Amino acid sequence: CGIVGYIGKRDIAPLLLEGLARLEYRGYDSAGIAVTAPKGGLKMVKAKGRVRELEAKVPARFKGTAGIAHTRWATHGAPSDENAHPHLSADEKVAVVHNGIIDNASDLRRKLEAEGVEFLSETDTEVLTHLIARSSAATLEDKVRQAVRLIEGTYGIAVLHADFPDRIVVARNGSPVVLGIGEKEMFVASDIAALVTHTRQIVTLDDGEMATLTAEDFRTYTTEGTSTSAEPTTVEWEA
Ligand code: GLU
Repeated sequence: CGIVGYIGKRDIAPLLLEGLARLEYRGYDSAGIAVTAPKGGLKMVKAKGRVRELEAKVPARFKGTAGIAHTRWATHGAPSDENAHPHLSADEKVAVVHNGIIDNASDLRRKLEAEGVEFLSETDTEVLTHLIARSSAATLEDKVRQAVRLIEGTYGIAVLHADFPDRIVVARNGSPVVLGIGEKEMFVASDIAALVTHTRQIVTLDDGEMATLTAEDFRTYTTEGTSTSAEPTTVEWEA
């Protein structure tokens, strides 16, 4: 339902929780957050219920250099802690938040289970984490590209990978993704309302488009890997 992501130097958990709170008006049943820990690896907290219940579960020391967060409106699997996003791969290196519906999720799940993958949730989203983690591509961009090309349905996604802690990779097909361009920091969200308190410089992704965000820079390209030009536009917004 709602996605927020950030890469940069600010204290990440309060920033992402505040972004989620700005998306609460859309309705949701659970929420979660994952960050790339400064010492390596990913950290994740998720909770059924309101954003403030998630906030209560986030430890005081929950630092990260990049992070993604989500409010879920369940389509596949009941509202629960396990089914809340982000979803982690078995090796806990990949975290994915997803808006939308993966139509061929049960086919992909059966194939992955036949290969020995154990699923931790009932969601359609979880197939993405395993597809990305199991890709043999060298870059995170190519891992995500390979995975989304197997997906039928709608998605707005944001992906963290413990081996690529300097970036967030996002993709859009039928579910909105907007980038917020800052000074030595970058934002992403499913809704401009989560960004405008931080930046008015916005890039809206098209369907079939992806982006890589680092603290310094961003670039956009198609799921086929061709670069696209994305000039930020300045949005007017009454706070
Ligand atoms: N289909 C996903 C799920 O059920 C995402 C739902 C959403 O857009 O929040 O977990």
